[in-house]
Amino acid sequence: MCSSVVGLTPNLEASMNTRSPSRVRRGTLAAGVILTAVAVPAALTMPAYAGPQAAHDDHGTSRAALTRAASGTDRLLEPRSRFTMAADGSSGTRPDGAGVPNIDSVKSTIRTYYAADATGIADKTTSPYISELGGVLGKQATQLKGLYNQAKRSGKKPAIVLDADDTTLWTYDMEDNAMHFNFDPVLQDVWVQGQKFPATPGMVQFVAAAQKAGFAIFGLTGRNDDQKVATVANLGKVGYTAFNTDNFFTKWTGKGDSQQPSYITCATAKCTTVEYKAGTRKHIESLGYDIALNVGDQWSDLQGGYADHTLKLPNPTYYLPSPNLAGVEEPKLAPRTRFTMKPDGSSGKTVGGEGIPNIDSVKSTIRTYYGADATGIANKTSSPYITELGRLTGAITPALRASCAVASRLGVKPAIVLDADDTTLWTYDMEDNAMHFNFDPVLQDAWVQGQKFPATPGMVALVNAAQKSGCTLIGLTGRNDDQKAATIGNLAKVGYTGFTNPNYYTKWTGKGDSQQPSYITCAAAKCTTIEYKSQTRAHVQTKAGGGYTILANFGDQFSDLKGGHAIVPIKLPNPTYYLP
Ligand SMILES: [Mg+2]
Repeated sequence: MCSSVVGLTPNLEASMNTRSPSRVRRGTLAAGVILTAVAVPAALTMPAYAGPQAAHDDHGTSRAALTRAASGTDRLLEPRSRFTMAADGSSGTRPDGAGVPNIDSVKSTIRTYYAADATGIADKTTSPYISELGGVLGKQATQLKGLYNQAKRSGKKPAIVLDADDTTLWTYDMEDNAMHFNFDPVLQDVWVQGQKFPATPGMVQFVAAAQKAGFAIFGLTGRNDDQKVATVANLGKVGYTAFNTDNFFTKWTGKGDSQQPSYITCATAKCTTVEYKAGTRKHIESLGYDIALNVGDQWSDLQGGYADHTLKLPNPTYYLPSPNLAGVEEPKLAPRTRFTMKPDGSSGKTVGGEGIPNIDSVKSTIRTYYGADATGIANKTSSPYITELGRLTGAITPALRASCAVASRLGVKPAIVLDADDTTLWTYDMEDNAMHFNFDPVLQDAWVQGQKFPATPGMVALVNAAQKSGCTLIGLTGRNDDQKAATIGNLAKVGYTGFTNPNYYTKWTGKGDSQQPSYITCAAAKCTTIEYKSQTRAHVQTKAGGGYTILANFGDQFSDLKGGHAIVPIKLPNPTYYLP
């Protein structure tokens, strides 16, 4: 929250229930405090009440003061950049949406790290990822001789075990460009059988150096037996000479000859990744090898022992957790929980792969926060998100009602401005269940025209209370003019009583009558969200726009709030997308 009106002037309502000038004067000053929250003290220059006409005469001056006061707050309107997030999604139980890494910022950070283009194809030559792998593998290569000698002392044959995906073969383009970070086993099998994966950067040279140093090489993957031949062929195709069907372990399918080996025993019928992988390493060691080094991109590749050393490669693009073996504690083989991430993706240049919030962990944290089920449908009754919005709207509503009433009495035509998506209407189910966190404008239009959105929790009561207390409702959304009627229809359908066509602002399409208004001028041909929204708010305050005084501006995006022309900006939480 960048603004808070929590705890301000609980007696304000009482102070306004009288026409006594002294009481009203106090109310006005108190309203000034409320309207300006904590960041805009200059708004106290709002004229003291001296009758409607006097207030009206001073209106221009006070508005100028308020506008001045409201500018300069933009510096506070920035997303958080430090996060604490457990890998398992449990951090989402906190009613603190701003503390959940925004999934769009996570994606752009990942794309910066892999130097991926706009379609999700990684740069194969230069990127922070390639540099980091070069450093990690270069250092490990210098230690191969020592590892070999150490393992040799055991009297067994020194060996190295390597996972496949994102350890020897590089799945980035499949994960991003083809799957949009939503794993699809059918598509994966197409990529596997088509042998479409490049080598993980630097790994062909590293494995060749290990072979040269005398190590036996083994592959160990969660890919299944039906994918074994294609996987070994893909490895050969990209330059590995070490792998063959004898030294490459894939997982049983349970069909035909592909059955659980006798050397693997599991606590339950379905083996965990760690049971499968550690059990296979134990088997390899039983064949006379000492596994000097175990290399993987997932912690579950490395847990469970049966290797002298482990090497974790970075991979923020998915997370495959597994319980460790019963009784085995390996606290160092666990994901990081503290992250620094700028909203624009630029942290991907500097923080390293382990320093990027893993996108699967971010999704599960978001789903915990919204109480979403496995299909991506939010809990509509109870969740940390609903708790947070309940606290926020509960804290704001009394002050907002009082402010609307006082300002109405002052004759300054008070209004509140409200964004649509995730401010008055709730898009979670569309974003997660329908879009899988990949925005799709065609699908969005179907939801908009179908008026399918529920209300944002707590907002109907707040908005209707403001309206009843004398504030005009102004809608201001990035949805376009072709979506205006359906949006107003959707708002009425879910219980908002006060939105009107003249005071509902949607964006022009550039087609037919839907053209850029004369009151909006932009630096480039295509207006930014901030240009469109802040100039529309400015227009609303002019005579032509109704001459309103915008007491509060509600939005779930910082771009809804930047650019001034509202006394108090109020940010609602939304980690599900980022519109800079
Ligand atoms: Mg892997």
